[in-house]
Amino acid sequence: MADLDTRIDQFKKMANDDPGNELGHFSLGRALLDAGRDAEAVESFDRALAINPTLSKAYQLAGAALLKLGRRDEGVARLTAGVTAAADRGDVMPRDEMVRLLTDAGAPVPAFKQAAPRQAAGEGEVLCHRCGETKKKLAKPPFRGPFGQAVYDKICYDCWQLAIRQGTKVINELRLPLNDPHAQKVWDQHIREFLNLQD
Ligand SMILES: [Zn+2]
Repeated sequence: MADLDTRIDQFKKMANDDPGNELGHFSLGRALLDAGRDAEAVESFDRALAINPTLSKAYQLAGAALLKLGRRDEGVARLTAGVTAAADRGDVMPRDEMVRLLTDAGAPVPAFKQAAPRQAAGEGEVLCHRCGETKKKLAKPPFRGPFGQAVYDKICYDCWQLAIRQGTKVINELRLPLNDPHAQKVWDQHIREFLNLQD
């Protein structure tokens, strides 16, 4: 698929031009996974983790890819480290997904710090899909359409601010012109992933 090859080339360039930036390696790993190049993807995720060991999603994707490749021990090691990293960061969705993968693989699940008990969301609050906490929500959907609505319904104000920053960082680092429809797609994909809203 031409579009996917273009993405892989772009992220490869980003990872090579700025090797200390975890986002380039992570994004390249993501694109390689989409292309079915699982072993190469694992290498990219490992590079991202060497720079930033708190990237819970990188543990999850690397662990799942390793299990798929039949490299069980390595996969279990990534997932075990990942559950702890995700629990520390409050990344509830990746944490639960890694617990599920470990359980399916018949491996022990490490003990992790439980988040504070969830409170029901009150007026102007949301039980956030990303951080798992009940927090202040946005005043209105950030843009029109189902994605804007999903952000409004499921994401807290603080996580949305972080997501915007993350999306902008990606576009800047790829040097994509903002009027390029491809830039919009890349932005969208990163924000969805960041917010655990991809389905
Ligand atoms: Zn949140």
